[in-house]
Amino acid sequence: MSNISLFPAKYQELKNHLRKIQNLENAASILNWDQTTYMPNGGSYARGQQIATLKELAHEKLTDPTIGQLLEDLRSYEQSFPYDSTEASLIRVARRDYERAIRVPSKFMAKFCQHQAISYETWVKAKFLKDFSIVQPYLEKTLELSQELASFFPYKHIADPLIDLVDEGMTVSILRPLFSKLRQKLLPIVEAITDTPPIDDSCLHQYYSREQQLNFGYTVIKRIGFDFQRGRLDVTPHPFTSSFSIGDVRITTRIYENNFSEGLFSTIHEAGHALYEQGISMELEGTLLAGGISSGIHESQSRLWENIVARSRGFWECFYPQLQGTFLKQLSSTSVAKFYQAINRVAKSPIRTDADEVTYNLHIMIRFNLELAMLEGKLAVKDLPEAWNELYKKDLGLVPANNSEGVMQDVHWYGEMIGGMFQGYTLGNLIAAQIYQAAVKYNPEIPVGIEQGNFSLLHQWLKQNIHQHGRKYTANELIYHITGKPLSIEPFIDYIQDKYSNMYQTKVPISA
Ligand code: ZN
Repeated sequence: MSNISLFPAKYQELKNHLRKIQNLENAASILNWDQTTYMPNGGSYARGQQIATLKELAHEKLTDPTIGQLLEDLRSYEQSFPYDSTEASLIRVARRDYERAIRVPSKFMAKFCQHQAISYETWVKAKFLKDFSIVQPYLEKTLELSQELASFFPYKHIADPLIDLVDEGMTVSILRPLFSKLRQKLLPIVEAITDTPPIDDSCLHQYYSREQQLNFGYTVIKRIGFDFQRGRLDVTPHPFTSSFSIGDVRITTRIYENNFSEGLFSTIHEAGHALYEQGISMELEGTLLAGGISSGIHESQSRLWENIVARSRGFWECFYPQLQGTFLKQLSSTSVAKFYQAINRVAKSPIRTDADEVTYNLHIMIRFNLELAMLEGKLAVKDLPEAWNELYKKDLGLVPANNSEGVMQDVHWYGEMIGGMFQGYTLGNLIAAQIYQAAVKYNPEIPVGIEQGNFSLLHQWLKQNIHQHGRKYTANELIYHITGKPLSIEPFIDYIQDKYSNMYQTKVPISA
């Protein structure tokens, strides 16, 4: 029996331990942000070492038996608080992180990290030369290591532990039927849309100056609620969001001078991630609760702002006059209706990151199924390019011109691992639709607000219901809390059918 009077001191001790781990992790993130934005190339070897050292220290601290003992001692203290209190949540989530971390030997992690770095470099070369055979042996090794990582955990399906690392609570037995239902609904919708004459989106492919694009994006995200006192916007080849504290959340974007939508929607996407991180309650600052729940919930926040809000007609009723004023030469003869259609053009394309919101999930499900097949040992890495091309032919009616535009297009398998890499994107799209539906049900004024440039109705609702809680709830708990239902594909399908039936004048099958 533990002495009750010692509880507050032990809890404080646990908090201090965890805060140091957070400090190390955040310091590593800053080094990484700097490397990706402004560091001269010459620094890359040393920087890799510096980041590795900080990460190693953080891992050592997290797996320290002292933490295990504290967590054990604090069990009844945890139970004396309500489930969603900061105290109970901190102990609960720390226990989850700790138990996960101690299963994986540090030696294995170091070996895997080293392999990832070499595999990534080889992928860059192989992609440039359009030659999969160069990276194939490295990917074979990655598959082995991914299987080994899974083997440190108990599982029903070998992919479960890898999915659980980023989307806790999600399993193959939940995702496989969910995705297969989604695919069955989406295929006829995509067919119906792409059978109609393609929308002319040439208005987006004129010259738009980099500086004006950046300024416009800056104005838009400021208006939707991104706090520049607690964040910044920079330019990198691959956009990302990085958070070092609730008071310092940074995003990056990329700008193409002949493709207007790429830059703006990347900026809004990352701002959606950032609103989440900036919206976490200050009470959680410095604790491991100050972060996003899962890859699916994080992606739901970026997708909600990028697609449901910023690709809506109402949003452009608000912003189009200003956009047209900024780019008079390019847009003076384009109506808001035409512009709205152009930014929502649906097309079957070989590249995931170019995909519209209707076809996007088909790209993800192809990757998800291939990951499962490889992990199950049913698909050999050497047969992966052929399997990839077959699935693209089947679901998107096209075969990529080469492996760089096919199986080598995404960094995930080559720079990280096989398993758990892609489901978060589709989960994000589904969760975004389900959450938005609940938000509008709660406050039907939200869409009107968007049209009038009042984004705080939606932003405040998201902050209140999602952002402020940080990692207190699991994804499944949060979805159920907010919507009263478990995760489902219906709100997303309803959203797609509603939006695109209007756009394509009811040619979209209403009940596929
Ligand atoms: Zn994202």
